[in-house]
Amino acid sequence: MDIEYKTKNAWTKLNRKEVMDFSEQYRQFVTACKTERETVEFVQEQAVRRGYVDLFSDEYKGGDFLAINDNKNILLFKEGKVPIEKGINFVVAHIDSPRIDVKQNPLYEGADIAMFKTHYYGGIKKYQWVTVPLALHGVIILKNGEKLSVSIGESADDPVFMISDLLPHLAKKQMEKPIKEAIVGEALDPVVGSIPVEDEKEKSRVKKYILNLLHDKYGIIEEDFISSELTFVPAGSARDVGFDNSILMGYGHDDKICAYTAYCGLFDSSNLDKSAMVLLMDKEETGSDGITGSQSDFLEYVIEKYIKMKRIKDLSARDVFHRSFSLSADVNAAIDPLYKDVFEEQNAAMFGHGIVMTKYTGSGGKYSSSDASAELVYLVRNLFNQCNIPWQIGELGKVDIGGGGTIAKFMAKRGIATVDAGPALLSMHAPFELASKADIYSSYLAYKAFLGKFTSKK
Ligand code: MN
Ligand code: MN
Repeated sequence: MDIEYKTKNAWTKLNRKEVMDFSEQYRQFVTACKTERETVEFVQEQAVRRGYVDLFSDEYKGGDFLAINDNKNILLFKEGKVPIEKGINFVVAHIDSPRIDVKQNPLYEGADIAMFKTHYYGGIKKYQWVTVPLALHGVIILKNGEKLSVSIGESADDPVFMISDLLPHLAKKQMEKPIKEAIVGEALDPVVGSIPVEDEKEKSRVKKYILNLLHDKYGIIEEDFISSELTFVPAGSARDVGFDNSILMGYGHDDKICAYTAYCGLFDSSNLDKSAMVLLMDKEETGSDGITGSQSDFLEYVIEKYIKMKRIKDLSARDVFHRSFSLSADVNAAIDPLYKDVFEEQNAAMFGHGIVMTKYTGSGGKYSSSDASAELVYLVRNLFNQCNIPWQIGELGKVDIGGGGTIAKFMAKRGIATVDAGPALLSMHAPFELASKADIYSSYLAYKAFLGKFTSKK
């Protein structure tokens, strides 16, 4: 027996072809699904194809269901043999990612250049988002009520957008500022055009040209932007990185990796004893507030609806929660060889060493953390070991360096015993993040095992 705790590089344990094939499917998913709306639509289609029925439709008569909340959350439920009185195995991930949102009255011109005013979303390092190609995604509701879906900048013949930055020659002052102040929020406005209308009496000729163009092409008037949700995200596909193609570079790995691996894990598990559920949530990056965040009561509503449909007597959503377990599926930080000093290496995650289990998150003296019990950590540890899943523990950085939270605490608040588990990234929250393909596949194996095989009672 090995009495020392050591983690292994997952590449030495996993079947490489399986890892590569699975990662290619994920690569296509993360390229196609850049916003929460796009992800919900994509997952809905996949679920319907596998026989999941909308809980809120008349066709639902029991069995596996999907439930969609305001186009931005999707919940997938697989019915087990044991009734839900015994609890549910949950995996919860989020499908929103940091990005540059468009303001409600965005269009202006300066020095004969048309620009969009923006308001960034989530925790970004602003300097990373300038001078990279951006695509525009979202929806806009026109005056007549028609909803236009927007996706410009993803195909090779589409234009892209870009936020400019100051040339080094004139950046002496900017370069002396702390990095946090070098680019301010109001300087994250991308360039959207530069041709003027011919009428020289017109005051804002370039802005007018864009307005005319948007009207002719799409029927958009300026007031329509008020009823829009448009966002700039990094343009282009996720791509392989490295001579050995072992790493995937993509926008929104946080937390699309967990979303994808969780729902694939649910789809691929069968003959469940306990029922299992995957929750793909919104607004995690800004605190899980609002109607589609994890603090909303959509989950309660769905469970109550299901109990009613099944005519189960004397059972509340709360009863179910207090008998349930969940994995909070979110990404962690891998030790970056360029910035080793922010990590406490004995308790930090290694890139490529499998899914990372994190007992507590939070910051400082464990503030705002959901601290999983030793008992639960034991059960999950035991499950991962029994299923031969590459896994490791990982804490987010040195004690006083910073920190962060996940959805775990909002699941725990409901009485659901919860522990964090997800792959560790490099350059999290940057326009492009790096993930090890071995970690992506390990996460899939881990969520699949938890959803299908976790049998503990409380
Ligand atoms: Mn996350
Ligand atoms: Mn995040």
